[in-house]
Amino acid sequence: MLRPVTTGSPRRRHTHRRPRGRTTRIVLALVAAAAVVAVAALVVPMLLPPGPRPPFQLPVACGETWQLGTYPGHDDYDVDLFPIEGEAWGRPVLAAAAGTVTVAGINGSLGGRTPENPEGPRGRGGGYWVKIDHGGRWETQYLHMLEPPLVQEGQRVRQGEQIGRLGSTGNSGAPHLHFEQRRGWEKVETWFDGSPSGITHDDREYTVRRTSNNCD
Ligand SMILES: [Zn+2]
Repeated sequence: MLRPVTTGSPRRRHTHRRPRGRTTRIVLALVAAAAVVAVAALVVPMLLPPGPRPPFQLPVACGETWQLGTYPGHDDYDVDLFPIEGEAWGRPVLAAAAGTVTVAGINGSLGGRTPENPEGPRGRGGGYWVKIDHGGRWETQYLHMLEPPLVQEGQRVRQGEQIGRLGSTGNSGAPHLHFEQRRGWEKVETWFDGSPSGITHDDREYTVRRTSNNCD
């Protein structure tokens, strides 16, 4: 009684294996095709030449004059912004151009520097930060903000829209805004209101002054 079952079952299994194998091959082919499409969708935009520079404005309030500076070991093109008048803590940080928020969170660690305790423990990295994708492979970054950003990942922002408040979280000595503009893979010299800032190399300490034209 057992023999017909044992001889029959491999045959039955065999007949069943064929359609299952075909289905598996079709599924694998579809998965492979989907993977190729997904990779192409990610890679092709990165290989395209960057678009024209967005009309960046200073990421601070319209009409205010700020000091832009760098120092040895900062990094080429990185800019630290300090207001030349008034309290730095809590000043509005604005989108330099319209775009989509790609990062809004914590980089490194916050540390404990606040308006009440400005000499508190120093954090690591950028602290509360935001990254905005402006299209055409252009991006801006805003570091060391006081509080969690006022925007969320995926959110569209207008030029001049407030994204956070100036602070000293992360690896920051004093309240300021660390700002970068990137084109494709690389940092580039920051431009504001149609002209370059002049902050290029970090071989020495130097500053320039610019007045914000980030106005409605
Ligand atoms: Zn900096």
